[in-house]
Amino acid sequence: MTSQAASQDPACIFCKIAAGQIPAHKVYEDDQVLAFLDVGPLARGHVLIIPRSHYETLDQMPAETAAACLRVAPRLSRAVLQATGAKAYNLLQNNGRLAHQEVNHVHFHIIPKTEHGGLGIVWPAGKLDPDDAQTLRQQITQAMQADA
Ligand code: AMP
Repeated sequence: MTSQAASQDPACIFCKIAAGQIPAHKVYEDDQVLAFLDVGPLARGHVLIIPRSHYETLDQMPAETAAACLRVAPRLSRAVLQATGAKAYNLLQNNGRLAHQEVNHVHFHIIPKTEHGGLGIVWPAGKLDPDDAQTLRQQITQAMQADA
């Protein structure tokens, strides 16, 4: 999928936060990126990183914008760990309603994980079939080359 031009969606709640039209508990901002506390935290210190521009899903973002979001993630993660005292955390990024994306503006969750709080994960691991692995490897590498 190709990258879409940088834009704002007037109906998008995260665009409104980026534009300063509705309040948020900001913890970081630069010219491309904003980070703020999640209003429905899975754990204390749950933070969201968003691009200022509106893209619905990660695959629609220019690489530079995705890089700008993740460039701040290590530093912000350290700050969240220090502030909360948590020793572990999950970086989560949902794409599409089926994958639990509720806000259609790309965002990266930093979610502290403690004994009693944080992200709960069901991980129904299968077993990679060797023939299917060959097929997938071919299909994905070809798609990568076509999208270079
Ligand atoms: P997702 O399910 O990945 O789309 O997550 C969306 C997240 O955005 C949820 O954790 C919400 O609690 C959070 N959220 C929604 N509206 C706001 C808001 N106005 N300020 C901060 N966080 C929000």
